[in-house]
Amino acid sequence: AINIDTVYKQFGALKVVNGVSVDIKDGEFFVMLGPSGCGKTTTLRMVAGLELPTAGRISIDGADMTYAEPRHRDIAMAFQDYGLYPNMTVFKNIEFPLKIRKLDVRERARKVEDTAEKLGLGELLQRKPSQLSGGQRQRVSLARALVRNPKVFLMDEPLSNLDAKLRAVMRTEIKKLVTNLGITTIYVTHDQIEAMAMADRIAVMSRGNMVQVASPLEIYDRPKTRFVAEFIGSPP
Ligand code: ATP
Repeated sequence: AINIDTVYKQFGALKVVNGVSVDIKDGEFFVMLGPSGCGKTTTLRMVAGLELPTAGRISIDGADMTYAEPRHRDIAMAFQDYGLYPNMTVFKNIEFPLKIRKLDVRERARKVEDTAEKLGLGELLQRKPSQLSGGQRQRVSLARALVRNPKVFLMDEPLSNLDAKLRAVMRTEIKKLVTNLGITTIYVTHDQIEAMAMADRIAVMSRGNMVQVASPLEIYDRPKTRFVAEFIGSPP
């Protein structure tokens, strides 16, 4: 479980996150939804340890992680730019995060092959990223994030570079994958449909606050403010 307790973030005079508190349950698919600049990415980066809060506390499974280094948090991240190494094969790309661990070659290969299989990449392990489609590259990037078997999975607009059709396919795939793995997930998007389709709970964000945190159905049926209603597109 992830506990975010009264977290603030300021860049100089700019207040970006204004006292966010939320508890994310084990295995939950939690979506942060909101317009550009509302503080979604900054909140996610604080959970990852890539930004430090100005105030507040973040803990993972009861341990205070507010100021812990990213590598001490059992977390994986995936972004919209896949960040693949162009001159390495798919196999080497997926294997890369395992290199810092003391695993022997065969153990590493087994983990890579298992993860690749789960993502439908079994036949593509010897290709280079340039020889893959956008959807396949996205899958490699997910495989690389998940190969270490992390406790928490953070995704920031991972599908925004894909066309609408592929986005719809990957939405379903990601949801299925993380549900099967039972991994606690925070997913950032500005796309209402994506949030509605994937989330167990959605946090609708505006100006550094979580305006409403609830299930997709509840947010749609009972939006707490006019902003939420308009952003979600609930009937008036
Ligand atoms: P988007 O969907 O556009 O990524 P967001 O909701 O994820 O938006 P953030 O990326 O969290 O928003 O940014 C919130 C605000 O903080 C923006 O105004 C942004 O310019 C500002 N900001 C983010 N990082 C920094 C930084 N390192 N230094 C200064 N300002 C920053």
